[in-house]
Amino acid sequence: MTTVSKIFSKAKKEGRRFLLEPEAKRVCIEYGIPVTDFKVAKNRTEAVKFAKKIGYPVVLKIVSPDVIHKSDVGGVIVNLKDTNDVQDAYKQITNNVKKHNSDAKIVGMLVQEMAPQSTEVIVGATKDPQFGPTLMFGLGGVFVEILKDVTFRIAPVTEDEAREMITAVKAYPLLKGYRNMPRADIDAIVEILLNTSRLVMEHQEIKELDLNPIMAYEKGAKTVDARIILE
Ligand code: ADP
Ligand code: MG
Repeated sequence: MTTVSKIFSKAKKEGRRFLLEPEAKRVCIEYGIPVTDFKVAKNRTEAVKFAKKIGYPVVLKIVSPDVIHKSDVGGVIVNLKDTNDVQDAYKQITNNVKKHNSDAKIVGMLVQEMAPQSTEVIVGATKDPQFGPTLMFGLGGVFVEILKDVTFRIAPVTEDEAREMITAVKAYPLLKGYRNMPRADIDAIVEILLNTSRLVMEHQEIKELDLNPIMAYEKGAKTVDARIILE
C-alpha cells in the first residue's frame, strides 16, 4: 500500500470522513505539493521543542477529529515568537476548543512554520457527479469569498490548461505584480495545479480537496492549510 492509501484507510478505519491537517499535508508532500514545515506535538513541552526546531515565528493549530474549520473555534494562533508564546497559545487553543465542544477529542497541536504574508491563492478540487474530479483556482480572501472570481477545469488538466486556469481569473493582473504586491511565481502555481490533478485522478476516494490558502511568492509557493474530505 502506498503512503497515501495508508493515510486514507487509517481515517476510514477511525470512522473519519476528513483527514487531519498533518495527514492532508503528508498527502500533499507525496504528490510534490509544497507545504509549510510542521510537527504534531502531544503536549506543551513537545510543542516548545518542535517550535525551536522549526524556528520562530511559528503557528499553533488544533489537531482534532471533531474540528474541521479550525479558526472558527479559535483553533489557530499565528506569529508565536518565543517559548512563552507557544505555551500560552497551547493553553488558549485547548480552552477555546473545549469551550465550543467539551467532548472534542484533542489529538495534539500542530506546530508549524509561519509562512511570510504574500499573495494568497486557492486550489480546490470537487467531484462533479457527471464529469468526475474537477479543479478550481482563484485568489484568496475577498476574491473567492465575495467576488467568486474562480475558474474550473475537469481533471486531468494539461500544463496549458493549468496556465489558462490562472490567466482566466479576473484578478490575474495582480499575480503579475501590482503596486506594492510582488509578482507571483506562476510556474510554481501551475505545478501545484498539475500535482493536485494527478492526486485527485489517482485517488477517486477524494470527495473534496482544499488548499486554502497557498502563499504565492516571487519564487515558489507554499500551502499553509490543506483539507481533504473523503467519499
Ligand atoms: P482553517 O481550518 O480555519 O481554514 P487555517 O489553517 O487555514 O485554518 O488557518 C487560518 C488562517 O491562519 C489562514 O487562512 C492563514 O491566514 C493563517 N495561517 C495558518 N497557518 C499559517 C502559517 N503556517 N503561516 C502563516 N499564516 C498561517
Ligand atoms: Mg484554511
